[in-house]
Amino acid sequence: MSKGQNMNQKIPVKDVTPVQKVTPQDKLTKPDYSARNRIYVRAVQGTFENIRRFGGLIFLSVFAIIPWLQYQGQQAVLINLAEQRFNIFMVTLWPQDLTILAYSLIVAAFGLFFVTTFAGRVWCGFMCPQTTWTFIYIWFEEKIEGARNKRMKLDQRKMDADKFIRKSLKHFAWVAVALLTSLTFVGYFTPINELFINFFTLDTGFWVAFWVLFFTFCTYANAGYMREVMCTHMCPYARFQSAMFDKDTYTVAYDAQRGEQRGPRARKLTQEDVKAKGLGDCIDCNLCVQVCPTGIDIRNGLQYECINCGACVDACNGVMEKMGYEKNLISFTSEHELKGGTTKIFRAKLLGYAAVLLVMTSLLIFDIVSRVPLEVDIIRDRNSLFRETNQGLIENVYTLKILNKSQQDRSYIINVKGLVDPSYIGDSEVMVQGGEVFTLPISVAVDPNNLEIGTQKIFFNVRTNDDPDNVVETEEPSTFIFTGF
Ligand code: SF4
Ligand code: SF4
Repeated sequence: MSKGQNMNQKIPVKDVTPVQKVTPQDKLTKPDYSARNRIYVRAVQGTFENIRRFGGLIFLSVFAIIPWLQYQGQQAVLINLAEQRFNIFMVTLWPQDLTILAYSLIVAAFGLFFVTTFAGRVWCGFMCPQTTWTFIYIWFEEKIEGARNKRMKLDQRKMDADKFIRKSLKHFAWVAVALLTSLTFVGYFTPINELFINFFTLDTGFWVAFWVLFFTFCTYANAGYMREVMCTHMCPYARFQSAMFDKDTYTVAYDAQRGEQRGPRARKLTQEDVKAKGLGDCIDCNLCVQVCPTGIDIRNGLQYECINCGACVDACNGVMEKMGYEKNLISFTSEHELKGGTTKIFRAKLLGYAAVLLVMTSLLIFDIVSRVPLEVDIIRDRNSLFRETNQGLIENVYTLKILNKSQQDRSYIINVKGLVDPSYIGDSEVMVQGGEVFTLPISVAVDPNNLEIGTQKIFFNVRTNDDPDNVVETEEPSTFIFTGF
C-alpha cells in the first residue's frame, strides 16, 4: 500500500457507547438518583436525626429571633449598608474596623478546619443552612405528599384533583417558608419591624422588594430543587475538605469487613447459619441509600458527596436492631478504628488548628475590647502650605473629621500638641451624634520665632468630656509647615 493511499484511507468508527434503557419501573425501583433523576429521600428516625432536629431548631430560632431584639430603642443587630455600619448591641462596627472582620473570618475558617479534621463534614450534615432548609422542605413534602414510595408514585401519576391539591399545598408551604426566611434575612439589613409591615401592605421601596423576592426565589430553588446539587457540584468546601481528612478523622463509614458478603436472608436465621452461608451482616435492604439526601451508597466507600449527616447510620442501626445484630455496621468512625486500631485524638494537625484558633480568637477578643469608639481624620489644606496672619503668626489650615463610632451622642474637646505655644483657631468643643461624622475646619498659628524651617510634627488630641467614667481619647499626628519668608 502506498503512502498516499494510507493518508486517504478512513478508519471506520463505530459508536460503542452503552445504551441504558430506563423504564418507568426502573425509575421506581433502581436508580434513586442520577444527574437528571430526583432523589426521593426516605424519612428516618434515630439519634443523629434527633440531634439534627434539635440543632436545627436552635439554629433556626437564633436566626429568626436575633433581628427582632432591641437595644436602647434600636434594632440590636443591624447591618446598615447605606450608612456603612454594623450594629451589634452596644458595639457599632465601621469599614475602619476591618481587622475585626478579618479576624472573625479567620476564626470561622480555622474553626471549620478544626471541626472537619476531627469529625469530617459534620458542619454540612448538621448545621449548614442548605441542609437545614432542605430537611425542612423534605418534612413538608413528607407530610403533604406522603412517604417516599407514595411520592414516587404520585410523580409517575397523571395530574388529577388529588395530585393537584397536594402539589399546590406543598408549593404553597415551600413559598411561605422561603418568604419568611427571606424577610428575616433582609431584616438583618433593614429595620425588620418596618420591613414586615411595609412588605405586607405593599409599601416597600423597589430595592427592598427586589431583595426579598430574590432571596425568596433562592431559598425556594435551593431547598426545593437544587438540594444535593448545591453540595456536590457548587459548594467549594466539598472540594477541599478531603485535604483536612486523615486516618483519625471521624467520618461516616461502612464496616465492609463485617457487612460483606451482603445479601438478603430470613430473619429467623441464626448468625451461625448466616455465617455458614458466607453472608455478612448487611442484609442489602438499601435503606441506607434511600435515606441519603445526596443519593449515594456509603457501602461504596468514602465519597466527596457524603455530608456526614448520619441518616444512613440511623437507618442501618434500625435494621440491625430489628435483625438482632450488633449496631454500627455504618457508624461515625475513623479509618484506624475501622482497621481494628484506635483513633489518635491529639495529633499534630488537629493541635495545630487548635493553636491557631486559640491565637486568632484571643486576637479577635483583644481587638474588640481595645477598640476605641472614636476616629479622627486630619486633612491639611492643600491650597496653601502656610500663610502669615495680620499679627505676624504663621498659620496652617486643617479640616478635622471626628467620627463618633458609639451609638450615643458625645461631646469632644480638641487640643493641639507638639508645637511651642500654638494658637488654636476654631471650635475647641463639639457635640457629635452617635454614628455620625462631624467636619470641623480649624487653623493653628505659631510665632515664627518658635518654629524651625521645614516640616514639624503636630498632634491633635480629641477627648470626650461629658462622662468622666467613660472617657474616650485619641491622638492623631499631622504636619505643620513653614518654609520661611
Ligand atoms: S441499611 Fe445496613 S443492612 Fe441495609 S443495605 Fe444499608 S448497610 Fe446493608
Ligand atoms: S452517606 Fe450517609 S452520612 Fe453520607 S450523606 Fe448519605 S446519608 Fe448522610
